[in-house]
Amino acid sequence: MLTKSDYEKYSSEAKEYLKKAGIAITKEEEARIEVAEYELGCIDKVGLELVVYVNTERCCAKELVLLPYQTCPEHRHPEINGEIGKEETFRCRYGTVYLYVEGEGPDEIKAKKPEGMEEYFTCRKEIILNPGEQYTIMPDTLHWFQAGSEGAVVSEFSTKSRDEYDIYTDPRIDAAGKRNV
Ligand code: ZN
Repeated sequence: MLTKSDYEKYSSEAKEYLKKAGIAITKEEEARIEVAEYELGCIDKVGLELVVYVNTERCCAKELVLLPYQTCPEHRHPEINGEIGKEETFRCRYGTVYLYVEGEGPDEIKAKKPEGMEEYFTCRKEIILNPGEQYTIMPDTLHWFQAGSEGAVVSEFSTKSRDEYDIYTDPRIDAAGKRNV
């Protein structure tokens, strides 16, 4: 469970990062920054901050903030009732993002898998994004990502976002803890 003081701490850090990245959001958007902790209780390791500013029947846009080494857990966006799953593009605006998707990868990856949860981070194909660089993840493809030592701000552009259908590798993350990114 996210406490009120945690919410305040992480959402205000997110605001600072957005400022550093030169990304303006309105007061109304500031007030509804989401802090995702996936009900795991280790938000510094597994968690992220986000603000959604478009989510229509067809497309979605959001800003994601990751504090230093904060990690979005491995998940995929499956087909729903015959409708193709979510496709998403991550464009780095600030810091460095280590992104992992299904496929061949190096023996030693650059990110540090969250301690004690290594088995839930299986993707090894490594994509390193610095400001201005982007990568598109195809529907139903496993992925996870982590910020480097400076933290990171990432703009996400995607098809419609539906939190409740995401499938996480870590079985402890159920519908209640899901945040679609
Ligand atoms: Zn995703």
